[in-house]
Amino acid sequence: MSVPFSYYDFIEACAEPGCPVCTLLQRDARRFLDSLLYEYVNSPSTHAAFRASRALCKTHNGQLTQFGEQVLGIAILQAAALDEVLNIIAANPAQPQSGLSRWLSGGSKNGPSVLADRLEPEQPCMVCQSLDEAEKRYLQTINDHLADARFEGAFRSSAGLCLPHFRSALRQLADPAALERLVAIQIGIWQKLKAELDSFIVQHDYRYAGKPMGAERDSWQRAISSLAGK
Ligand SMILES: [Zn+2]
Ligand SMILES: [Zn+2]
Repeated sequence: MSVPFSYYDFIEACAEPGCPVCTLLQRDARRFLDSLLYEYVNSPSTHAAFRASRALCKTHNGQLTQFGEQVLGIAILQAAALDEVLNIIAANPAQPQSGLSRWLSGGSKNGPSVLADRLEPEQPCMVCQSLDEAEKRYLQTINDHLADARFEGAFRSSAGLCLPHFRSALRQLADPAALERLVAIQIGIWQKLKAELDSFIVQHDYRYAGKPMGAERDSWQRAISSLAGK
């Protein structure tokens, strides 16, 4: 079997703190936004997507603020989404209908809630859509290469998958041997983390005050990331 780029990407990501799939997806999100702002700001399909999804989701629209040198592109795309919002408001009066017109239309919904429905995104954030596909590819890479000694060694010494990506892996991995191996490695990683948390908690007892801590020092931070993703 030929080795895809994602094989090496995954091994590299295993050396980073936190879930390797989260690490790769964060990198992909940065690359997606970078390329969007450099190359696709004036593309009609980008504008159509920004209108339909009312800009990006909260996370990714917020992430645009990290691309401060591309303010013009950011402004152009936000203007398209805001123009769409204003068009929808203009076409759907928020004023409650009068009793007579509500009776004539036979509708039970009032103006504001119809307007609220129309303002909902018609399609998901384009970055989220792209990351959903990337996540499937990374999980497929685990499925295909976990029997490889180098790949397995890298994963074993990583922070393991976060709980959301572990759940996705349980649902997606088709090879029973890969699945069994993944679960065994993940249990080992979480047992070690749990032991470090227990040690951290004990050492915070007043009788241990002032004692230096070892690897468990930041276990609470790693646990947050491991349970919720990065
Ligand atoms: Zn993750
Ligand atoms: Zn998003």
